[in-house]
Amino acid sequence: MPCQKDQELKKHVEYAKQFTKEGKVATYIPELGKANPNDLSIAIHFPDGRCISAGDITKKFTLQSISKVVALAYVLMDRGFDYVFERVGMEPTGDPFNSIVRLETMDVAKPLNPMINAGALVVTHMIDGETVEERLQKLLTFTRELAGNEQIDFNPSVAASEFETANLNRALCYFLKQHQIITEDVETLIDLYTKQCAIEMNCLDLARIGLVFAMNGVDPETGKQIMPDGVARICKTFMVTCGMYNASGEFAIKIGIPAKSGVSGGIMGAVPGRLGIGIFGPALDEKGNSVAGMKLLEHLSKSYQLSMF
Ligand code: GLU
Repeated sequence: MPCQKDQELKKHVEYAKQFTKEGKVATYIPELGKANPNDLSIAIHFPDGRCISAGDITKKFTLQSISKVVALAYVLMDRGFDYVFERVGMEPTGDPFNSIVRLETMDVAKPLNPMINAGALVVTHMIDGETVEERLQKLLTFTRELAGNEQIDFNPSVAASEFETANLNRALCYFLKQHQIITEDVETLIDLYTKQCAIEMNCLDLARIGLVFAMNGVDPETGKQIMPDGVARICKTFMVTCGMYNASGEFAIKIGIPAKSGVSGGIMGAVPGRLGIGIFGPALDEKGNSVAGMKLLEHLSKSYQLSMF
């Protein structure tokens, strides 16, 4: 789909851009520390094929936690509702995304939801296949279909950078393995998970994926049902209840758009039945959300009545 630069959207971006200086780029994955904290770009896809944008939308970024939504949709389609939710819960936590605390204090060491790292690692564990390469290809094929872009791939430098430093995620995996929630080799799972998180795209691709979720799984160009309606609804519900880490409640009240953020500064939004949003703004607040991206969404939601509530 062609995407038009939009003057009105540009003004909203210029307003929100002043907040980039309040945040910091993530550095715990060293490769992410190379991002320019002043960047802010957005694309919006509509069901009729229109697309509008502002900022440098050619910049690529890795999905990081946004990949958790795509992986969840994939395993729900491949394994079914019961299999998935026997192994991961449906409740928000209010804890930071990489917290280990609930695994120990809950009766069963089953992660509370698929949007925190513990739950996302369980979801990635469910991606079936003989090798990491085969499992990653399945996820990439699905991601490419959602984005309508065959060129999408993962960024090997970012994946390697996270693999080197992912000791907290390794700790979560060992805990889960002790309780037989995962059964595979931890290094293999971390290898696949870090490559999944390093899947790379630009705002246009992300907005297109957001639109497929907004349209309950229907490809806006071909009309094809890429994922069942029910799967898209489950993913959107998780985006509302836990998509913005432990700021999800405030985000729902102030903005009211199903959304998922990642520590690279990406935010995917899916306004039900109306539009898909892709934002890139790598300066993050203390909870891990794009500072300027959140301001931009808040501004847009108020200006165009985007809240679903
Ligand atoms: N790959 C990152 C991690 O597991 C994703 C975190 C995020 O984007 O919230 O730490």
